[in-house]
Amino acid sequence: MKSRYLFPTLITLLSFWLMPTQVFATQNNSEQQLQAGYYHFQIGSVPVIALSDGTMKLNTSLLNAPEDKVAHLLKHAYAKNPIDTSVNAYLILLGQKRVLIDAGTGPHYGPTLGKLPISLSNAGFKPEDITDICITHMHLDHIGGMTKDKKRVFPNATIHIEKQEFEFWTSQSEKEKAPKALQQRFTKATQVLMPYKEANKVALFDGKKQLFDGLTAIPMRGHTPGHSFYQLQNDQDKLMFWGDIMHVAPVQFSKPDITIKFDINPKAAAPKRIEAFLDAAKTGFKVAPTHLSFPGVGQIRQDGDHYHWYPILYTNDATPQT
Ligand SMILES: [Zn+2]
Repeated sequence: MKSRYLFPTLITLLSFWLMPTQVFATQNNSEQQLQAGYYHFQIGSVPVIALSDGTMKLNTSLLNAPEDKVAHLLKHAYAKNPIDTSVNAYLILLGQKRVLIDAGTGPHYGPTLGKLPISLSNAGFKPEDITDICITHMHLDHIGGMTKDKKRVFPNATIHIEKQEFEFWTSQSEKEKAPKALQQRFTKATQVLMPYKEANKVALFDGKKQLFDGLTAIPMRGHTPGHSFYQLQNDQDKLMFWGDIMHVAPVQFSKPDITIKFDINPKAAAPKRIEAFLDAAKTGFKVAPTHLSFPGVGQIRQDGDHYHWYPILYTNDATPQT
């Protein structure tokens, strides 16, 4: 299959807003490394499909910590800088609803990303099938895939965003207050959302809100002003979609107080992360942080001042139709 990401075009990286261009190292686009990009699992009886938007090389010098400390933690985890970092989205089949959690990068992050539509198609769904998109926050690697050529990629979807998050990124005065180099983030966020806003397809919620039976938005401000978790609960099973509570697993599970330059408010982001880790470790519910290795779903356990990550076990036990 020929697909656009097999043939890196001369995409310039000028419009990256979340990550500076030096984040990216040379990528290997060999055909051998193409992956299926979707993974089925269930929370209680609710089917969920993890969808890969691709991976990027993340430069760990973006962490707010001494280089030697980061290098030591990476080495301990058999990892190295730059570290392969996933961008994941999730499709929840919630009754008649087809709910996406975040929408990938779209065309904004280069040829190894922007694969969400392909993953969705391989999983058997069309963009028109999506009824709702729940946005954890308005950084471009989470919303960029919603819009293409100023048009809605998901024409039937209602976009759910926390009110403060939407107001911050679409505010002219917040944009003017931001450093010049970061102002484009505001422009792009507004551009991505505008086609949905004009079609009356943006639904804002304030703080904690049950959006659907079994799916609740929970405010987790820190990384951005209106960053939200989404909690999916069914029977005794629970999964919390974590968005950007963390970026570099080998470093931040060991030292959760280490922040990253993408955190708009690092002072709030670090304690929020520790609060989230403690909460998840206490009862062992499942979590899905956007940037952990695909499918990025697992459980965590506390061990003193650090945490261990236990990814869900791979399951492929469906029986082929005859
Ligand atoms: Zn992100």
